[in-house]
Amino acid sequence: MPEKNCPSQTGLPEQIRVSLGTAIVLGLLEGKLDAEPTTAYLMTYRTGKCTANCGFCPQARASKSNTDLLSRVSWPTFPTPNVLPALAAMAKQGKIRRICIQALNYPDVFDHLEALVQEIKKRSAIPVSVSCQPLNTTNIQRLAKAGVDRLGIALDAATEALFDKVKGSGAGSVYTWENQFTQLNEAIRVFGRGNVSTHVIVGLGETEKEVANVVQRCVDMSVLPALFAFTPVRGTTLEGNLPPQVESYRRVQLAMYLIVKGKARIDDMQFDVEGKITGFGLANEALETVVDGGLPFRTSGCPDCNRPFYNEKPSGPLYNYPENPSREDIEKIKKQLR
Ligand code: SF4
Repeated sequence: MPEKNCPSQTGLPEQIRVSLGTAIVLGLLEGKLDAEPTTAYLMTYRTGKCTANCGFCPQARASKSNTDLLSRVSWPTFPTPNVLPALAAMAKQGKIRRICIQALNYPDVFDHLEALVQEIKKRSAIPVSVSCQPLNTTNIQRLAKAGVDRLGIALDAATEALFDKVKGSGAGSVYTWENQFTQLNEAIRVFGRGNVSTHVIVGLGETEKEVANVVQRCVDMSVLPALFAFTPVRGTTLEGNLPPQVESYRRVQLAMYLIVKGKARIDDMQFDVEGKITGFGLANEALETVVDGGLPFRTSGCPDCNRPFYNEKPSGPLYNYPENPSREDIEKIKKQLR
């Protein structure tokens, strides 16, 4: 039976979720922001939850969390016909420089995505990212044909064992580690090198070395990793787990930046017996310059994706800086790296 949220023949969903910060930038809601999103974050809407069951996600099939949530952020719903012109207007003004659609998993989701992207592209040339689980090549090709610029297929976990436990068979879901990489390779074939992203969450039980390892694997196959800090959300399977230590997250951020920028490889880095990073494979002076620039500690991912306070409160501690860290921030970061 088709989704209730899809009256029209075009497949365009009647409603869509918009992150709170994005809704304020688009003028759909009034409010004050500590940092404005430079990407407009949308999420597909359905009555009910996702068919998958990722342990950290409020949208998961078995989650008892508020259905408005993704990570710690609220995503209210709006009529799609109100959102589309607002997106085009803010793109024209340069207030948003990218649109990202987070997709739940449900039968009609690719009809919804295809129709949404086509409607967005009719109104604006703004780049569009879609973060979804295509599961097969046909869906990847449909998105490319609809006009998607970058495809994100989240690994989320840094190892196969953690993946199976948190997102795959251990969570009662169909996802497999191997198929994720098959789909990532397929996405590169269809979208081209450099136009595919993935998400890696720090704090699911992996070591720093394991994160650096999966980052290196992604970079070697031309997939851009985006780093997230595990955020416990009430009602999810992992609600009782703790977020990662900021000091550890900083080391991983720095290692990832060096690998993504080709300044070092995991083989150049040193780790202790617990897999903690003890050396970054760069001369001290060069490393100091990189840290001083602050860029490794900015939100990572597609160009202009800054996800303000997606994993932390504005009061901090900040894992991902949505804007360039200030001088003061960098001094704090240096202490965290010591
Ligand atoms: S990196 Fe950002 S813009 Fe890209 S798919 Fe992920 S959330 Fe969306």
